[in-house]
Amino acid sequence: MSSHIETALIHGAVREGFADKKGAVNVPMYLSSTFHQESIDEFGEYDYARSGNPTRAALEKAIAELEGGHRGFAFATGMAAVSACFMILSAGDHIVITEDVYGGTYRFVTKILPRFGITHTFVDFTDIEAIKAAVKPETKLIYLETPSNPTLGITDIRAVVDIAKANGAMTFLDNTFMTPLHQRSLDMGVDVVIHSATKFLSGHSDILAGLVVAKDEALADRIYFIQNSFGSVLGVQDCYTLIQNIKTTAVRFNEESRVAMRIAEYLDAHPLVEKVYYPGLKTHPGYEIHASQSTSAGAVLSFTLPSYDVAKVFVEAMKIPVFAVSLGGVESILSYPAKMSHAAMEPEERAKRGITDGLLRFSVGLENEDDLLEDFKQALEKASTIL
Ligand SMILES: *Cc1c(COP(=O)(O)O)cnc(C)c1O
Repeated sequence: MSSHIETALIHGAVREGFADKKGAVNVPMYLSSTFHQESIDEFGEYDYARSGNPTRAALEKAIAELEGGHRGFAFATGMAAVSACFMILSAGDHIVITEDVYGGTYRFVTKILPRFGITHTFVDFTDIEAIKAAVKPETKLIYLETPSNPTLGITDIRAVVDIAKANGAMTFLDNTFMTPLHQRSLDMGVDVVIHSATKFLSGHSDILAGLVVAKDEALADRIYFIQNSFGSVLGVQDCYTLIQNIKTTAVRFNEESRVAMRIAEYLDAHPLVEKVYYPGLKTHPGYEIHASQSTSAGAVLSFTLPSYDVAKVFVEAMKIPVFAVSLGGVESILSYPAKMSHAAMEPEERAKRGITDGLLRFSVGLENEDDLLEDFKQALEKASTIL
């Protein structure tokens, strides 16, 4: 491990990519699905690219180093990463999972896993006692996502790890919103950390990718077996893109987070905005816990306008951000969770989670901060006129 993570972000994968010692400063792209073997009875490090490819290996070693785990894995998408991790479970196993989970994860856990006899209980993960109460003898996994999506709920990671350890269960954490730069989950006792690298780690709204890091060898072996069996690995060219983009994570994420704080404060003071969800605000109910386990409040915030009609005028008046699903890009992204990321969730489940018809999510990009604030100002003014 380099002395600081910013240094590892730049050099981690490149160092691992020097297998050919030619001195390239970027990791070579090994566009090879198969690898020549020198002898009939002794095979080299690589045989077939689903099982392993040097470009992917460089990325996988780099993310393992960044998260401080035993071994990393690169998947075709964040959902491929999430579902591969769940697939190490077996029929009869039970999961305790945050009710504030990513929409795609919700769909996988509720629609796919029950067909294989893997059951679950959704719990409000801001309530540690409720998590404790949901654990059963057959609970094998506690699944966290903090900050959560889209209402930025905060879960006390260390407290959940304690519950899991006391009950012989594993903990998996979706760290997409914080990146390894700002939330060191494995150091806090989490067993497996998962990323949709589509978001901040790639950071340019270009590729889909998922990354996983397992803390210990036994778990890593189980995840590797699933990765190789299911085959949803990240392609070599996307591995290259992700390696390049990871290098600038610190400058992008830190700048986006700084501006996110300014926007959150602006919205918090605006009379049309009913509620702002951002863990950097002292009024956020999870402020203290988040500050104890993360070194940034992140670059995503959500806020509630009075109604669907007001939200519609606001969205149509905003000029700078793209209006789209996803987050974590260099361009600001405005989304409407009820019809986008959480469309897969039943309306009554959405309502329980605060995903109302007036809720909007904003992922701060790298545009000029005054331009962004000016855009919010004029769009909120327009939206105010229809009240
Ligand atoms: C986007 C996202 C995912 C899924 O990742 P994909 O790359 O879209 O498959 C999982 N978890 C969180 C928190 C996300 O934001």
